[in-house]
Amino acid sequence: MAGQLIFAALLAATLIVFSLTVRKYVFRFSLTGPHRIRHWRKRIGLMFQVAFGQSRIFRRPVIGFFHALTFWGFCMITLGSIEMVVDGLLGTERSFAGIGFLHRLFTALGDVFAFLVLISISVFLVRRIVLNIRRFQGVEMKRKSHIDALIALVMIFLLMVTLLGFNTSYLLSDPQPAVGTYPVSAILASWMTPGDPGKAGFVMHLSWWSHIILIFIFANLLPYSKHFHVFMSIPNVLLSRLEPLGKAENMTSVMNEVKAMLYPEQSGAAGPPPERFGLLDAGDISWKGYLDALTCTECGRCTDVCPANRTGKLLSPRKLMIDLRARMKEMSEGKMKNGRNFQDGKTYLGDYISAEEIWACTLCNACARECPVNINQPSLILDMRRYLVMEKASAPASLNMMFSNIENNGAPWQYGSHDRLNWVTCLDIPVPVMANLAAQGRKPEYLLWIGCAGAFDDRYQKVARAMIKILHHLGVDYAVLGTEETCNGDPARRAGNEMLFHMQALALIETFRHYDIRKIITLCPHCFNTFLNEYPDLGFSSEVVHYATFLETHVASGKLKSSAGHFKNDTIVFHDPCYLGRANGVYQAPRTLLGTVNSDKTEMERSKSFSFCCGAGGSQYFKEAEKGSTEVFIERTGEVIASGATVIASSCPFCLTMLTDGVKYLNKEGEIRNLDVAEILAMEAGLTSEKPRSSVTGPRLSPG
Ligand code: SF4
Ligand code: SF4
Repeated sequence: MAGQLIFAALLAATLIVFSLTVRKYVFRFSLTGPHRIRHWRKRIGLMFQVAFGQSRIFRRPVIGFFHALTFWGFCMITLGSIEMVVDGLLGTERSFAGIGFLHRLFTALGDVFAFLVLISISVFLVRRIVLNIRRFQGVEMKRKSHIDALIALVMIFLLMVTLLGFNTSYLLSDPQPAVGTYPVSAILASWMTPGDPGKAGFVMHLSWWSHIILIFIFANLLPYSKHFHVFMSIPNVLLSRLEPLGKAENMTSVMNEVKAMLYPEQSGAAGPPPERFGLLDAGDISWKGYLDALTCTECGRCTDVCPANRTGKLLSPRKLMIDLRARMKEMSEGKMKNGRNFQDGKTYLGDYISAEEIWACTLCNACARECPVNINQPSLILDMRRYLVMEKASAPASLNMMFSNIENNGAPWQYGSHDRLNWVTCLDIPVPVMANLAAQGRKPEYLLWIGCAGAFDDRYQKVARAMIKILHHLGVDYAVLGTEETCNGDPARRAGNEMLFHMQALALIETFRHYDIRKIITLCPHCFNTFLNEYPDLGFSSEVVHYATFLETHVASGKLKSSAGHFKNDTIVFHDPCYLGRANGVYQAPRTLLGTVNSDKTEMERSKSFSFCCGAGGSQYFKEAEKGSTEVFIERTGEVIASGATVIASSCPFCLTMLTDGVKYLNKEGEIRNLDVAEILAMEAGLTSEKPRSSVTGPRLSPG
């Protein structure tokens, strides 16, 4: 009875402390904004795959295996812990024994997993203490973070030792018959000399109480440590984003405002303007954004793959999460003390995160792809850019120039729409234009979207021409928009100018509707991503394919044959563009196309979903890179060289330019050619005599 009373008192103290912590967090969540959750069935599938199946963790198979064992171990051991609490309250022993086989099953699994978790935690401790792991370093990893991690690991270690100690001493206390099954503890007990069952009973009680007290302390420490993810990771994965990584969240308020401006006759579209565009402080974040920050395990997988961070820039996606937690704590404590309207004069963007960090991001989504608990860091960065551009008008000068170009010319460069068809002049085959076909009462099956780079960049014009030759050869029924084409708004959106994006997109959608466009082939993966994932939010959906996917079916049917043998002495490596691969999952199509070419093939160390950005994404192409130890395109080109390739194949205008710059910078122009997949196919099929080499390309187009 005394034991029961002590136990009840300890449990009550634990719950009181825990509820005080919960109160703090409820207040913090009350400061955040709304976030809508739908598609529950899909979410449950995702939870089983990512949370219970630990699919993200296994992207690093060895250490992932130990993490997964720890997670599964926690799930198994929890059942035993619940039984212990019931026993403690009721003064019973093994109170769930009545469920028979199931009891034997969960006690057996709990015992085996306690041992496996012990091994895993030992591995983690050795890694933390002995090995100098890069991803555990960084400006955001203060001494407190390391101590916090070590305390949590040691506590888990002790929890497993006491659990195994309890089970082993229970068996040594000679129960007749033993209730439950304990395979590992049975082995441990068999190694020990049977002694006085009374002594074993004493050790059993000592282990039981130690284990229970550790659980109570651990439960109250977790919400203040990075190990809060023990509670948060499953709900966070359940509630995480379902959309493709490339999709930017639409700002409906901005869309409605632009609609009201463009179509005043339909006004009523614009609701009340939001208090603030974008994200300045922790209170501007949605409750889901704050849940992300609380779930962050500080594992550093995101920072470790971040091209900006890898090339010495200030940006670290992990820091975004750690700082958001810290700012929310600071802000909420002030408001708890002085009232909800209290302002301490500090902000998340400015006092914690600098504009330099925000502008260094290439929006490559490597961080979000890697995060084991499905956190989406790029959306946070984009929201801060939106604040800087729409509230403060403080984008880097070259981005402002790019915005003016789009506003004035419908292209990010200083070229007018009347020049949009200049690239066709040296073609010896006609290029069908949508307006001309419409005048003849004809409607082609596909719109071939050339994009601003295809229209204006000398180098990418060659790719556009190669694509025309291929489509002509295949007899595809298509047309281009020609001078009616205009920037679809993607570079403006990625740079935070949501207003300009909507102005471009809504105007373009009118053109699409005018020609009743249902199917679009794009050259550029960024345009592909925008039409596929973002235009539906604006009310325009169509069948959109990147040209690599489109051509894959034709290659499979044998209509496009590669036989010229231009590359028979070459080794080709494919560089995955972020907005084709990681953002939209198209990895195989360009590889299938290249597979038809008579040449050797190789892969870079980082490819497919692990691919490393070329450095142009997130509108970086239109501005100078932030200060760092090197440039992203140089690092990526170094990887090309290490692969031994003599031809870089890509399928994005920006990757082509960046890697061409890299080849030049590293003086490899005589050894490495840089081509688009469409060019390679056109050359191999004998359709083009243009044989571009990296040395014949012009300079990178600048907005100025
Ligand atoms: S999107 Fe890419 S560049 Fe931006 S933080 Fe993530 S990994 Fe770094
Ligand atoms: S954001 Fe995700 S990947 Fe990055 S440190 Fe946190 S948990 Fe790890």
